[in-house]
Amino acid sequence: MTVHDVTHMSRCPVCGGGALPLLFLESQPIYQHPVAASEPVPGPFSVDLEWAQCEACGHAWQREFVPELLESIYRNHYYTPAPGGMAIQFRDEFLRAMDDFGVLARRGALLEIGASDGDVLLALTRRMEATRAFAFEPNATNASVARQRGLTVYEKFFDRHARDSLPCAVEIALSRHVIEHLFDFDGFFAGIESVTSRDATLVLETPSLEHHAGRGSLAPFHVEHIHVFSKRSLARLARRFGWQLVRDRVTDDGNLIAVFARCEPGGSVSCDPNVRFEGLQAAVDALRGHLRWLVDGRPLVFWGAGSAAIGIVRSIGREPDYWTDGNPNKVGLVFPGCTREIVSPEEALSARNFRPADRPLLVIASSFVREILPRVTAMGWADEIVDMNGRSI
Ligand SMILES: [Zn+2]
Repeated sequence: MTVHDVTHMSRCPVCGGGALPLLFLESQPIYQHPVAASEPVPGPFSVDLEWAQCEACGHAWQREFVPELLESIYRNHYYTPAPGGMAIQFRDEFLRAMDDFGVLARRGALLEIGASDGDVLLALTRRMEATRAFAFEPNATNASVARQRGLTVYEKFFDRHARDSLPCAVEIALSRHVIEHLFDFDGFFAGIESVTSRDATLVLETPSLEHHAGRGSLAPFHVEHIHVFSKRSLARLARRFGWQLVRDRVTDDGNLIAVFARCEPGGSVSCDPNVRFEGLQAAVDALRGHLRWLVDGRPLVFWGAGSAAIGIVRSIGREPDYWTDGNPNKVGLVFPGCTREIVSPEEALSARNFRPADRPLLVIASSFVREILPRVTAMGWADEIVDMNGRSI
């Protein structure tokens, strides 16, 4: 990494408004996902991150980032696809919102930008009896799984040249958990403009700034998220490119799901008043202190081997003694810069590993607490369990 690679954004990338300080996080992990132990990943493994907040539209963004590093992460180190039935909570909440918003009644050609393993696109295609379904997915592993499921997958980043790939225009374009990663809004929306029909619907899902910052949750604040959108900033951005917010919802897990219809580009948005999170830094510092106190001197198990877990490891300055995940495809993998291999839940939670007198602690370092907790209970874990915010559950 050289100084020339760093992109600086001193003003709001959505509206050009001035920057207010929001959050500084020291020594955050660069790689959010575990990789094969044999796969060499060059250091460094951590970086200091800083988010500003727009005084006009509430948008949160990283003041400095390295585009080349992030592109390399997306291509090579993105998450491990889970077998069918895993991590279905987000997918089902998304489908429920689509149903409630009346989007599922639409038929025709669909496009998903950043389709991961194709799980959601496949479900939508079936529900809508769509005639064609296309996916853009730059990660080779994900693209391969999606292709095996019968989807047409373009293994590349979506940009202004997307129309060159697609054989026809689409009536619905959706993109889940992509827009917060983008360096180039112009290219993304130019691509959408070129591939959608005149009466098309655009659906975006992204972590809600109001939900997370309002609760002192760090979940969306990691290296890969250049942006964390407020409802106002997402509406304003889409409006700039000719899309008007028509329906929206924030799920219990803190994801903003928003549906847009075409409109004249530009103009103001009249949605929620601006939001400020002046207490976020103090809340985050307190959380870090609480977690360090909680784990001090205790045997530690993590359930969850994703961005939340590695974030906690960097925050508390130690790895768990046992590290597991509900996704069996992660067993045997290691986070770059860490030493502990991910093991099966049975191995991690085995009673042989712990003496009750040592007060072992299980941290569910994942958003999927509702799916994980019944499994933990069924496996007989009787010691303390906390979520990623250090709250007992
Ligand atoms: Zn702004």
